[in-house]
Amino acid sequence: MIEIPVYQPSLSGNEKKYVLDCLESTWISSKGAYLSKFEDAFAQKINVKHATAVSNGTVALHLALLALGVGPGDEVIVPTLTYIASVNAIRYVGATPIFVDSLRDTWQADPADIEKKITSKTKAILLVHLYGHPCNMDEVMRIAKQHGVYVIEDAAEAFGSKYRDVCVGAIGDIATFSFFGNKTITTGEGGMVVTNDQTLIDRVKHLKGQGLATHRQYWHDVVGYNYRMTNICAAIGLAQLEQADQFIEQKRNVANLYKKYLKDLPVEIQEEAPDVFHTYWMFSILVADAKIRDQLRDYLLERGIETRPLFYPVHTMPMYSTPFQSHKVAEDLGWRGINLPSYPGLQESQIIKVCDCIKTFLGKRQNNLYRNRAEIAAVPIRCNKQN
Ligand SMILES: *Cc1c(COP(=O)(O)O)cnc(C)c1O
Repeated sequence: MIEIPVYQPSLSGNEKKYVLDCLESTWISSKGAYLSKFEDAFAQKINVKHATAVSNGTVALHLALLALGVGPGDEVIVPTLTYIASVNAIRYVGATPIFVDSLRDTWQADPADIEKKITSKTKAILLVHLYGHPCNMDEVMRIAKQHGVYVIEDAAEAFGSKYRDVCVGAIGDIATFSFFGNKTITTGEGGMVVTNDQTLIDRVKHLKGQGLATHRQYWHDVVGYNYRMTNICAAIGLAQLEQADQFIEQKRNVANLYKKYLKDLPVEIQEEAPDVFHTYWMFSILVADAKIRDQLRDYLLERGIETRPLFYPVHTMPMYSTPFQSHKVAEDLGWRGINLPSYPGLQESQIIKVCDCIKTFLGKRQNNLYRNRAEIAAVPIRCNKQN
């Protein structure tokens, strides 16, 4: 059915060899040589002092908040246009998420809105480099410094992205990454916490390993967690890291091809700001309205092309919608956006097929051929089917 998935990891490097090494050596649990190799190589890659591997990107955020001492009574500023995990982690520690709206051009958190939302209770700003585009870090760091609040970077979608030649994750006080199967580098499930601060990394390591005391075996001095990564996952991660530059180049190439073939169509894209290096985790477009978005997604799916809707703004979800609030730009982007297939191995011929289908659909719509879904289904398929 699905001919072009929205994502698929590329595992053709040393993944198999390193995993086999884990199996043959019996080092399959959360101790072993691949863990420190992966952590060290990761820290070096994005140029931070410390990195510690964890079981996924959500717990990475939980640990980052705990390490900073964020808890009940604290407010954490977070963009509403993000994946749910960024916000849930704030709830896990008992703090209150304070949502901010997005910028229309880059889709990132609006610094002016961040500044407006700072109160005496604000403990941290949790930034998300959405879809691989870096946030406006100069502005955010200035605001954070001025008001004495921490900056957490949720860089789950932005491995390798740069703001003024500095890798994201190396700018705020602490940062997190995810290695889920559709992220730029993957370990199946996995995550990383990074920081330049020795105290913060010590706290994260302490908490991820059941709060084990350093001075006595099997003695625990805080309520900790088992948030460790396995050696097998780290083995995959190390192999992925070896190919990371290539993946990023391929993803930027995919984005350039989409831009080329969508050029004359009535769609908007996420603009790459000056002075940033965008890694295009998911190449995304905006169409005219929510109805066309849903119809287009159905149309593409019928032709074997899988897509995703842009993130729904979290402030519209039941558990975060009280008090009632409105964030106009995020809502507009969230209802109109589509993530297109964006994986490193995607071929130019596949991108052409996706763009041809979008063009055919929008062309027909413009001619008022489609008024409802039944009509769409009835219209003969014209786009470039490859088989
Ligand atoms: C993927 C993702 C996460 C969470 O990662 P998991 O590894 O799936 O737990 C957190 N934040 C953002 C923005 C993400 O895209």
